[in-house]
Amino acid sequence: MTILRLAIPSPLRRLFDYLPPSDVDNALLEPGIRVLVPFGKRDVIGILVEVTNTSDFSINKLKHAKQLLDSEPPLPQHLFKLARWAASYYQHPEGDALQHAIPVLLRKGQSCEYQHETLWRAKEGANTDTLKANALRQIELLALLIEHPQGISEDAIRAEGGNTQSLKALEKKELIESFHREHKTDYGQVLREAPLTLNNEQKSTLEQINKPKGFAVSLIEGITGSGKTEVYLQAIEKVLNEDKQALVLVPEIGLTPQTVTRFQQRFNVPIAALHSNLTDRQRLDAWLQAREGVARIIIGTRSAIFTPLSHPGIIIIDEEHDPSFKQQDGFRYSARDIAVMRARAEETPIVLGSATPSLETLHNAIEGRYQWLKMTQRAGNSAPPAFKLLDIRQEKLSEGLSKQLITAIGQHLNNGTQVLVFLNRRGFSPTLTCNDCGWIADCTRCDAHMTLHRSPPHLHCHHCDKQQGIPQRCPECNSDQLQPVGVGTERSEQTLKHLFPDHPVIRVDRDSTQRKNAMHDIMDKVNTGDPCILVGTQMLAKGHHFPKVTLVAIINADSGLFSADFRGMERTAQLILQVAGRAGRADHPGSVMMQTYHAEHPTLQTLVEHGYSAFAQEELHNRRIAQLPPYTHYALLRAETTTKYRAESFLSALRQQLEDDMLLPHGVHWIGPFPSPMEKRAGMHRAQLMIYAENRKNLHQLLANLCWYLEQNKEARKVRWSIDVDPADTF
Ligand code: ADP
Ligand code: ZN
Ligand code: ZN
Repeated sequence: MTILRLAIPSPLRRLFDYLPPSDVDNALLEPGIRVLVPFGKRDVIGILVEVTNTSDFSINKLKHAKQLLDSEPPLPQHLFKLARWAASYYQHPEGDALQHAIPVLLRKGQSCEYQHETLWRAKEGANTDTLKANALRQIELLALLIEHPQGISEDAIRAEGGNTQSLKALEKKELIESFHREHKTDYGQVLREAPLTLNNEQKSTLEQINKPKGFAVSLIEGITGSGKTEVYLQAIEKVLNEDKQALVLVPEIGLTPQTVTRFQQRFNVPIAALHSNLTDRQRLDAWLQAREGVARIIIGTRSAIFTPLSHPGIIIIDEEHDPSFKQQDGFRYSARDIAVMRARAEETPIVLGSATPSLETLHNAIEGRYQWLKMTQRAGNSAPPAFKLLDIRQEKLSEGLSKQLITAIGQHLNNGTQVLVFLNRRGFSPTLTCNDCGWIADCTRCDAHMTLHRSPPHLHCHHCDKQQGIPQRCPECNSDQLQPVGVGTERSEQTLKHLFPDHPVIRVDRDSTQRKNAMHDIMDKVNTGDPCILVGTQMLAKGHHFPKVTLVAIINADSGLFSADFRGMERTAQLILQVAGRAGRADHPGSVMMQTYHAEHPTLQTLVEHGYSAFAQEELHNRRIAQLPPYTHYALLRAETTTKYRAESFLSALRQQLEDDMLLPHGVHWIGPFPSPMEKRAGMHRAQLMIYAENRKNLHQLLANLCWYLEQNKEARKVRWSIDVDPADTF
């Protein structure tokens, strides 16, 4: 009896048994292949997890699978195993997790055969003279193909203005032909440009990365501008010379054309960039190119971690501390942590780089599990910026800006350099209020204010995306005295334009960069080097270099200092240093001015006076005392309901029940339930139960039991619950 055990995309944490399709060769039943099966009233695509000969169900109740969709599994066995491991580690239904590991088109049943690229070329002796003089499009197209004897793709033909009709016409006339480009592994020179000569710190860092054979984790803790990227490039060069591939993960807003260009300029090999603007087809193609070994460098964001490589050589995680490596909904995995597991499985080195490493990673380095490589000098002779805290407690601010700061901005502009003004709020102002009765424009679906936007004018909730018009009069008292409160990027832009009318003020945030090429145009303006003011959100902090910026102004440096989240302090420090790192690159020494109401805050002082390492040490000490990660392991059980208090009472009852029924594993503790820091969001009322343990095994044992329990529990079906292992934030 052959029984197929399948992972099927479903919220249930179990596998499903099927009989093989009739008259199928058992040798084809390899774990990892996709199988089309009837599921309820639909046909769905499942993934074969194992082949067995017993089932908990009676055999005559089992249905036959309809069809095997693969002759070979899309994911190599070790990645298939890794995805299964991740599903169990993050307590996520296996069917959904496995789907997550493959591109959308494969989830929909497309073939995963690698398609060699189809190219078109002119046949020998083809000549435009043989075409009718009025067949202009065909003449142009044939001329184009004659110019490119090595062949061009249909996409490229279209980009040049050609169309499929002319192509078909020319093919019919036997003037042109299509052919497949064989996948070339020999690219001649790996390098397109000469690498930089490394300074001593870079040299020893590179040597340390290259020294161990096989799996090893290295942390490069290198200040911004210390030349980490150059070290990555040279580590990749070595790997390419060994005919292997490199997988590079970058944060979501770090995957800019600039980033990719830097790799393209250096290397003469095919590079696949897995960014969010790809169509599903392009994404699958890039994925297949990686699996086939055609793409030699793969650069992507979080989800690229499951991209198969035929010859894995190295994994690099740039800005490893970035929260975007952790998925915040559904399959809540950490791409960085999975990357370490993957490198172990593939026996390759992995490099985690950051100017401000996460405390988890630092802890691993301190404990000796990771090689700890430090780069403290800026490469290419520029000085790190000088920090200054501006105490604004007694100050009368004009639209959020202190006198000192305005003077400094003026000075830098007059000196002919650029200024970057950072504030972490887009829109015009964080809310709108009535001067007469105190009404505030709140989101009806969230415990949050609506942000006022001026271009175009509307109120927008940044938490649930609700948008509405701006009321002319107060909905409570009908007064027309409605006032914006607080400063966002749009308002800062307006103020700065008013204060410095002779200089361009360029806003950079999610709203101003939505248009295609917007960022490109902005960078063109900045790259002229003319004095200007850049005002924007953390989009300014990553992936971009602003060599002419000499002053970085941080408007609300303390916004995260008193966050309810225990990572608030860490995130604030990371953001401040990231933004600060934009100043004084190249040959312009920079300074950073930070406005704060808490100039005496010891943590802020440590950060400013002694730098990130000193800050991190203090913060680790605090975490140890408070029994917080990385000294303990955390998970959150979140619950959401449409009625108030239901989520919390559900969790309370659950906790009580579990305590009655089940022995907590040794060293596992609960805290809560509490309402979530933002209790209501997008119309749902939210509460959470924190679970932590010194020992990861014990925590996972409890979580597995908990999931099982929840799936059996009738009450649990009435709430939306989820488990977040190693949560990136507690909201
Ligand atoms: P990071 O990634 O640490 O922020 P980068 O690798 O981007 O630093 O380097 C910062 C700047 O210094 C870049 O302009 C880079 O070209 C330059 N640079 C890096 N290494 C060297 C070197 N060895 N010699 C000269 N310039 C260098
Ligand atoms: Zn009012
Ligand atoms: Zn809302």
